[in-house]
Amino acid sequence: MADWSFAFVRRFAGEPPPHTRDQAAGEPAPVMVDVARQRQARHYARQRQRLSLMSMAIPAVVIGILLFSQLGFGLRDALVGTVGWTPLVGWEPLRIAAYFGVLFGVLTILDFPLTYYSGFILPHRYGLATQTVGAWLLDQAKGLALTLPFEVAAVEFVYWLLAAAPETWWLWTGLALLIFTAVLSNLVPVLLLPIFYTLTPLPDGDVKRRTLALAARARTRVRGIYSMNLSAKTTAANAMVTGLGNTRRIVIGDTLLDRYTPDEIEVVVAHELGHQVHHDIPKLIAFSTVVTLGGLFLVNLALHAVVSRVTLYTGLADAATMPLVGAVLGVFGLVTLPLTNGFSRVVERQADAYALETTGKVEAFISAMTRLANQNLAELDPAPLIEFLLYNHPSIGKRLVFARRYAARHPR
Ligand SMILES: [Zn+2]
Repeated sequence: MADWSFAFVRRFAGEPPPHTRDQAAGEPAPVMVDVARQRQARHYARQRQRLSLMSMAIPAVVIGILLFSQLGFGLRDALVGTVGWTPLVGWEPLRIAAYFGVLFGVLTILDFPLTYYSGFILPHRYGLATQTVGAWLLDQAKGLALTLPFEVAAVEFVYWLLAAAPETWWLWTGLALLIFTAVLSNLVPVLLLPIFYTLTPLPDGDVKRRTLALAARARTRVRGIYSMNLSAKTTAANAMVTGLGNTRRIVIGDTLLDRYTPDEIEVVVAHELGHQVHHDIPKLIAFSTVVTLGGLFLVNLALHAVVSRVTLYTGLADAATMPLVGAVLGVFGLVTLPLTNGFSRVVERQADAYALETTGKVEAFISAMTRLANQNLAELDPAPLIEFLLYNHPSIGKRLVFARRYAARHPR
């Protein structure tokens, strides 16, 4: 259930869970998989997959046109007016910024209808979103305002390196990315999350007491446990570990706190605690750095090979190499996506195992997972290929099987 990004906001959501307590008998009735919701979940998943394919096709087509026509060079030459400042031979910061700006603008405008449809229309149609269109647009604007300056700075940095250190630029880029990711991960809960959500320290009470008891048993320290007003944007339940070093903390959505039983919340918190105990955030940062370095090395090979053969390029740091860099990174990202997701699934499975071992509450785990599938419209058993390619968590069906097998191995 841990997500390190804002992606979780868009991923899942759902309607209030079915009535789960038989008040008359005082016995909790088992939470059942909602068959009708599963049918909806399959439709929803298929629509989202189709939309993300279309969303990937847009940059592929634009970059393809720029690469295989003279348009990429045409754009560079048209921006000749921006070449007034060349602090380093081969590096034209203003032309780089302008070229990137045009590419970014075109792709953002072309993709906007899809972003709107998949991010606003579709989740509303399935009863998963609670935002007004104004609030949604404001979030998009905030996200853009936050990321664009960093993207421009990153592009300038890489092109400066391409001019200054044409053989080793990719190593320095990888190193800079590692440092940047570490700093950003540290700042996410204190600077970034509060821009989109209100985080409140969990008040003293049952959940906090249980969490501290779990942490004490694990001989680990919980730096903070917070609730977050997910319900302002979605009906989905979620929780996550976030932060790095002195900011690491467990964050639980109010949608989870309000609707799950204390035992169910405890196993979810134990899962998140498992991520802390296993140091999963540093592990994921290290893993993605290694993968990214591989991609940057391939870009390096491609750049040297193409620029030395095609005389229209003025050098490695020519703005017109941007579509080539984008193409290599795009294909590389797509090919390594199953690898990254596979690593994430392993880490998630270990956190599930930790939650089951440390709480021993298999029934609560099973009912929490079932509730999540119902509420968040999560497909229980997606096609194996889809799960292999796209899932960063094991499917809920697999997590249920895992819990039942655990129970069989550890009879009470
Ligand atoms: Zn997790």
